[in-house]
Amino acid sequence: MSLLNPYMPVITLVGELTVLIILSIVISGFILLILAAYAIKSGNLLFPRFMRAGLLFLEGLMRALFRLFGFEDSDFLKIIVTLQNTLNRKAFMAVPISERAVFIPHCLRSNACPAHLHDEGLKCRECGLCRVGEGKRLLEILGYRVFIIPGSSFIKRMIKRYHPRAIIGIGCLMEVKEGVEMSTQVDIIAMGIVNLSDGCVETTADWDQVFRIAVLGIDPKDVPDEMIKYLE
Ligand code: SF4
Repeated sequence: MSLLNPYMPVITLVGELTVLIILSIVISGFILLILAAYAIKSGNLLFPRFMRAGLLFLEGLMRALFRLFGFEDSDFLKIIVTLQNTLNRKAFMAVPISERAVFIPHCLRSNACPAHLHDEGLKCRECGLCRVGEGKRLLEILGYRVFIIPGSSFIKRMIKRYHPRAIIGIGCLMEVKEGVEMSTQVDIIAMGIVNLSDGCVETTADWDQVFRIAVLGIDPKDVPDEMIKYLE
């Protein structure tokens, strides 16, 4: 006991600080949960920077809280992607169309797709069996470089080859979340669009959302008639 005495103030201080840190984390977690629940219900994001930093920093705790309060893991991931898109929106709009690219996963194509894989991804024939052909055509009219890709290695290769400053990435939830985070690390402005249905074949993209994002920052006179409705 006598040996511990000189250190008691330090031990007490460390103990108090630990309790304070744990308390701050738990309170922050609950604040983030309330903001996230509000975002899910209303579609509005409040304090996006704080939310994104908090959700990523406290990812383990936040996922546990989400589950505890009846939310799905997918709700957590969707909020991360939406936050990232919200924060990137202004910067994305400032990038000229010639420096933007779109990555479309090949799982969106029809099972009967007649296209073949080339060095830069699938060469879509716009056969009409799936919506990829029409989507690609409209995006190319806007001026985008469009890639229909079978995997993330193609994305890395095309980024190295063409150095886009901004990208639109379409895919399943986990792919989009990881893609958006990876892009942030390499200074590329990424906007992620999560598929409406997942799986390995004949998945469904949220094309309305793709086009809404694609026209951001583009002069309305350069937007084709079919896409005017997506201008905000
Ligand atoms: S539209 Fe393109 S991607 Fe879709 S099935 Fe036809 S060739 Fe394949």
